Amino acid sequence: MKNYALILSFLSLFIIAGCSDSLPEEEPTTKEEAQEIDEIETEEQAEKEKNDIDYTSPDSLTVLVNKEHALPEDYEPKDLVVPDVRFPFIEDDPKKQLRKEAAEALEKLFDEADKAGHELFAQSGYRSYERQEAIYAANVAEDGEEAANQYSARPGESEHQTGLVMDITSASVDFLLVQEFGDTPEGQWVAEHAHEFGFIVRYDQGKEDITGYQYEPWHLRYVGKEAATIIYEENLTLEEYVGAVED
Ligand SMILES: [Zn+2]
Repeated sequence: MKNYALILSFLSLFIIAGCSDSLPEEEPTTKEEAQEIDEIETEEQAEKEKNDIDYTSPDSLTVLVNKEHALPEDYEPKDLVVPDVRFPFIEDDPKKQLRKEAAEALEKLFDEADKAGHELFAQSGYRSYERQEAIYAANVAEDGEEAANQYSARPGESEHQTGLVMDITSASVDFLLVQEFGDTPEGQWVAEHAHEFGFIVRYDQGKEDITGYQYEPWHLRYVGKEAATIIYEENLTLEEYVGAVED
């Protein structure tokens, strides 16, 4: 019986503590209490900052772009360069470009793939808002809006506008962007090693409900090594990683 009373009083303490948000704040009475509260606030602050991944600034390496999060129409990365990697075509094209950090990382990824005996090709990187507008309009004209929305991003909603994405392919799939790429030795090497260079396979199998896109083993998104490693090891999507999963 004594124990029961003890538990009850402990519980009520707990309940009062749990409701502290809705009660007026009381001034700490002793120096020790004040210090303790300061420490708790610092820890909470640190925890908050750790989880505060910037996914809304267009220039952030972890920016989230999907059907719910569009980039501004006038967003254009300031540091686009052409990576020194293999392309299956020779002409100059704005789609060869990536942001500098992503371009350097892609060069390293291609070098390591070469050493492992896998010849990769870069097919399509940066795409401006205007270019996406033209592609989307052409797809709608061809297939109708509803069908086009299943495979084609609306302007502002394409990750390619970030300059952090490169679609890659191989000779074994005729340089096409197809799901079979994921079954090739090249595609498998990329899936296992991309994170070591800061890239993720952005639209993975079984994650269609979260990403809003079908499996695209060719679409590599640069997020930086730290984020890419967590996303890879914990089998997350970028949506889950930044904490922006739509209900
Ligand atoms: Zn892509």
